[in-house]
Amino acid sequence: MNPPRKLHIKSYGCQMNVYDAQRMVDTLAGEGFVETSRVDEADLVILNTCHIREKASEKVYSELGRLRAVKDDAARGGRHMNIVVAGCVAQAEGQEIIRRAPVVDVVVGPQSYHHLPELLAHAKRHGRALETEFPVEDKFGFLPPPGADAIRARGISSFVTVQEGCDKFCTFCVVPYTRGTEVSRPVAKIVDDVARLADNGVREITLIGQNVNAYHGEGPDGRTWSLGTLLHRLADISGIARLRYSTSHPRDVDDTLIAAHRDLAVLMPFVHLPVQSGSDRILAAMNRKHTTDDYRAVIDRFRAVRQDIAFSSDFIVGFPGETEEDFAGTLALVTQIGYAGAYSFKYSPRPGTPAADMRETVSAADMDERLVRLQELIDSQQSAFNRAAIGRTVDVLFERSARNPGQIVGRTAYLQPAHVMASPDIIGQVLPVRIESLERYSLLGELTVSANARPVQPASSQIANSSQITMGA
Ligand code: SAM
Ligand code: SF4
Repeated sequence: MNPPRKLHIKSYGCQMNVYDAQRMVDTLAGEGFVETSRVDEADLVILNTCHIREKASEKVYSELGRLRAVKDDAARGGRHMNIVVAGCVAQAEGQEIIRRAPVVDVVVGPQSYHHLPELLAHAKRHGRALETEFPVEDKFGFLPPPGADAIRARGISSFVTVQEGCDKFCTFCVVPYTRGTEVSRPVAKIVDDVARLADNGVREITLIGQNVNAYHGEGPDGRTWSLGTLLHRLADISGIARLRYSTSHPRDVDDTLIAAHRDLAVLMPFVHLPVQSGSDRILAAMNRKHTTDDYRAVIDRFRAVRQDIAFSSDFIVGFPGETEEDFAGTLALVTQIGYAGAYSFKYSPRPGTPAADMRETVSAADMDERLVRLQELIDSQQSAFNRAAIGRTVDVLFERSARNPGQIVGRTAYLQPAHVMASPDIIGQVLPVRIESLERYSLLGELTVSANARPVQPASSQIANSSQITMGA
């Protein structure tokens, strides 16, 4: 029997890339590959790339430069190493990668991962292979599900893609071009995936999609189901203690999603709802299809049904034409909403997007300065949010042993890491923890029950109660 071949995969960017990396590992497991964390012993290296900002794609070319040396070393030892570039840079710059990086054997776009075995075989016969078409068939119908051992090895929290692509065409964003048009998976397939994960010890599911709340999948009743209806169905799957979803667009928050937050105890009260800017003029130039008032109204609808709900967001500073007054609008919106955390980025022109042709630009110095001011404000809100947990008893889903011996780490409903001294037996349980202190972004506390005494499980999927968290103004 041949020894297994070794696969090293490195992912950049979003949660969907993390999920896609696992799907590629599952696909190649059928070809006799096992995963390795060591690039130097790999027979196959996959770079799963991100194209969302300029630096992300430049990173790929520098990584390929380093890989050339590793590949040459392997060749001197008599071993052929294949190098694959996957993900959104592959989709957007396939031909350019082939031209610029002779070290690459296969370039494959995100919709064609199920073709990886054939592409590798093609590269072996003909030297190199490139596939960046959007195939007519749905890749999910062909990607093998993970085996029980792979699920258990990946831990108690898992992503599940429910929707891919985007039809919104924000003027700064490459996603509609690299991931294609919006496609939703049928409800039955998602239910099967979640049930299999739950059967193998997964306790927390994050439904992911570029525009996850635009989900409109075919339900078992033949109707089109929304994300809220899907969440209601998934909440009934035995073993699932927590449900989350990401990333949402403010325009696609419908009543079924609000109802899910009202009704489902397993749906965590923490929503990533990017607004990008606090200026209506800039939101219009971004083609966001919502105003700041629309955004505030959506936040109010969530807060009306779940007082303990918290939000995070994404922001872009320095979009073409952004004035100091526009930026002041962003700071004012952040102050008004009060976030538990947020990501903020300097605008980066992406080739092929409408904003890349806009002339008015903000100077690099102004962008840097605005980013610092915004991040200081967000950091202060995040610290206040974390400090507010001190002295409270909060539910924590325990994930793994921490670096410090004897400590186990888990996450609160708001994804804050929380550490306790306890036995590893608590991994996979939701237990109440009294929070005593805060160390940078981590909460430290003590279990208030013994591990076997009272795992916190919602008795049903319906909400029992909710404690109040006060955020912002
Ligand atoms: N679908 C999500 C939404 O509508 O907000 C976001 C998807 S995108 C993968 C993640 C974030 O990257 C965006 O929310 C935006 O803040 C940022 N981003 C996207 N394009 C960018 C660009 N050209 N320059 C800077 N940041 C960008
Ligand atoms: Fe990009 Fe806008 Fe679609 Fe989000 S909604 S993926 S920012 S085009």
